[in-house]
Amino acid sequence: MGQGKLSGRVALVTGAASGIGRAVALQLAQEGAIVSIIDMNLEGARAVAREVESLNGKALAIQCDVSVEEQVNQTVKETAEKLGNVDILVNCAGMFVGNNSLVDMVTVDWLRTLDVHCGGTFFFSRAVVGSMKEGGRIINISSVDGVQGQVLGIHYAAAKAAVIGFTKTLALEVADKGITANAIAPGVIRTPMSQLLIEISPDFYKKIPADRFGEPEDIAELATFLASPGASYLTGQTIVVDGGLTLANPVNQFALEVMGQS
Ligand code: NAP
Repeated sequence: MGQGKLSGRVALVTGAASGIGRAVALQLAQEGAIVSIIDMNLEGARAVAREVESLNGKALAIQCDVSVEEQVNQTVKETAEKLGNVDILVNCAGMFVGNNSLVDMVTVDWLRTLDVHCGGTFFFSRAVVGSMKEGGRIINISSVDGVQGQVLGIHYAAAKAAVIGFTKTLALEVADKGITANAIAPGVIRTPMSQLLIEISPDFYKKIPADRFGEPEDIAELATFLASPGASYLTGQTIVVDGGLTLANPVNQFALEVMGQS
């Protein structure tokens, strides 16, 4: 490690102890970035930092609840002191609590979901953007649920849609500094968060045109590209990475059946 298209850059990845965040942190490190591994789960964050170091990379693990402003500011300060100012921010920390329809939605689940996904993205973006240099990158992990809605997840869909609106506005606010902001909207990616869905419905992948669930590395590939110098003209976008899931609407499914392909 050390050499690569992100050599010498400082990346901060939230939710990096697990799933997509872990894969993003590892791949950024493989491209030479120094990585600040942020998560509520300190043991998990330390384990990922050790993985980076075992590949000759440099990493720092910090425990932080992204929904708590003071913790976020302290985390960015510690990262700057120990690694340098953040060049690449990946807001990935997230959770899903309470599968309920609107009428049964518990207020505490609604508020917590918005606090973590929107609050965390807002706090970290605000904390890094002032010291971010030209070429800086902000990458926010949204979801296809934020694009198309999610029955039994109205809080999650609202939070992920908010992340998209936030990203577009941020992109405009920082464009003149040579910083880009983009969102990634994953489909069903095989991580602890989607474990229940995959357990309940192991054949669900058959509804995905790519005929498989996504892997965290599928998202990490795109995040690494968005973080790279080659993506400097790409900003304010939400890129869906779902193996074609959101295109598989009833009209297209019917047409594929007519073609004998379903
Ligand atoms: P994951 O494996 O559960 O990883 C999420 C990580 O974020 C966990 O380590 C979790 O810690 C941490 N975290 C949760 N709340 C936090 C907080 N307040 N502060 C700091 N860290 C926190 O889930 P994932 O699938 O990789 O999800 C990563 C992101 O992708 C999320 O934003 C999620 O909404 C999004 N996404 C996932 C999918 C999918 O199918 N997996 C699809 C679309 C979008 P704990 O384990 O201790 O809670």
